[in-house]
Amino acid sequence: MRGPYDVLVVGAGAVGLSIAYELARRGASVAVIEKEAEAGFGVSKGHAGVIHVLQLPLGSLKSRLAIYGNKMYDKWAAELGVKPWRLPALLVASSPLQLPLVLLLYPFLRAYYGRRGFAISLVSGRELREREPNLNALGAIRVDGYAVADPFELTYRLYEAAKEMGAEFYFNVEAELLEESEEGVKVKSSAGAFSSRYAVNAAGLYSDLLAGERLKPKRGVMVVFDRLQAKSIVAPISLSQLVRAETKGGGIIPTAWGHTIWGPGFSEGDKEDTAVYPQDVMALLSRFGSLVRRKGRLLKGYAGVRPASPARDFMMFYSPRKRIVHLVGIESPGFTALPALALMVLKMLQRSGLSLGAPRLPRPPKPLTRELLAAGKEVRGEKGKILCHCMRVSVGDVLEAMERGASTLDGVMFRTKLGMGPCQGQHCMGRAAALLLKLRGEVTKSGGNSWIAR
Ligand SMILES: Cc1cc2nc3c(=O)[nH]c(=O)nc-3n(C[C@H](O)[C@H](O)[C@H](O)COP(=O)(O)OP(=O)(O)OC[C@H]3O[C@@H](n4cnc5c(N)ncnc54)[C@H](O)[C@@H]3O)c2cc1C
Repeated sequence: MRGPYDVLVVGAGAVGLSIAYELARRGASVAVIEKEAEAGFGVSKGHAGVIHVLQLPLGSLKSRLAIYGNKMYDKWAAELGVKPWRLPALLVASSPLQLPLVLLLYPFLRAYYGRRGFAISLVSGRELREREPNLNALGAIRVDGYAVADPFELTYRLYEAAKEMGAEFYFNVEAELLEESEEGVKVKSSAGAFSSRYAVNAAGLYSDLLAGERLKPKRGVMVVFDRLQAKSIVAPISLSQLVRAETKGGGIIPTAWGHTIWGPGFSEGDKEDTAVYPQDVMALLSRFGSLVRRKGRLLKGYAGVRPASPARDFMMFYSPRKRIVHLVGIESPGFTALPALALMVLKMLQRSGLSLGAPRLPRPPKPLTRELLAAGKEVRGEKGKILCHCMRVSVGDVLEAMERGASTLDGVMFRTKLGMGPCQGQHCMGRAAALLLKLRGEVTKSGGNSWIAR
């Protein structure tokens, strides 16, 4: 039996990693068990990276944690060496029929979110044309306080910082059962038993199985264009979207690396269904297509599955003896809520008797080869050799990704953006796989049986 630990976290997604990091930096002994080969291979790899402000239903746990999380983000991410890009969101009317909705919604949003520290203003058609000449829109509500962040960068920095603070990681290990007693928790897993005083079930789409609940997963498809289409997050204003409130309806989202995402869409699905169907893409093209003049090249589509709960809200609750905190239904805006959600879990564990010290700060991350190259610095030898010309990824970047924990081709791609440019890896993927083969003696796409070479 491994342990005893103070806390065992099931799931190395963004949520489990945030909790492990916050616990470990306060002196708790923490183990994280993850069924995939690497951190961040679950829901956290397929989202849009928006740090939200608006979230319905108002007053719900997810809406409140989004507000708190949003306000904590800059400081929290800066401690990890990550800088979110703050930008406004525009709820736009693209037809005269939608203009009354702008006027109707504006005072309501201003009253609710203005009181909570977010600036809400009206934007006329002329102002809109000046700020966003690439959009076809007649007027908008501007919501300040949104941001986009690179979801992979944040997830991997959380992993590195949690490890640096002493958290232990067990990959390719699946938790099968969480058993609690007065003394603590025994976790039965595919690699034997673990013992801990407390446990956190942060198993994303599969958290329901460990908590005895039942999720209602919903697919979300996104498409990616190779250029920035707007300087703001843009979403068409829609009454039906507001009434339905099952999703925020997606938007036109600039990414931190110069692309634009449309989406996510919304459709029924099961936990493993991350296929992109033609009807998903058509729905996005028809929703956003007429809003943008110059679109650029459509690079690809990808899908994520929302771990939506029947309550349509985040569910954070104790097991009967309060030794386990279950997190179920952490769908969007889970990425936004991370700093606040992690602290809420810590409070719950403290109320059950866990004592924690003052938080330590992680070491700032080492400058990466790509940062040196982007700053015009010379990188000598093999390390400076460019593997992926579209995204300017060098051999040094791949080596650093591996030093930081990548053991698969996906792990390298997510950390470096290799293969994510216009050619979609046609030229670089083989070279990167050959480098991994040379260094590791084997290459898988994402662990398990996804062999590429050995
Ligand atoms: C399409 C889409 C778009 C989104 N866009 C946004 C956005 O723009 N902004 C925002 O704030 N939020 C967004 N979200 C929500 C956000 O992605 C999630 O809230 C967040 O990633 C959830 O993280 P997690 O750690 O709970 O889940 P996961 O990342 O899935 O992590 C759970 C981990 O647990 C592991 N696991 C599962 N079962 C077991 C087990 N039995 N034993 C061991 N390990 C196990 C899994 O392999 C996984 O790695 C979006 C979600 C989707 C689907």
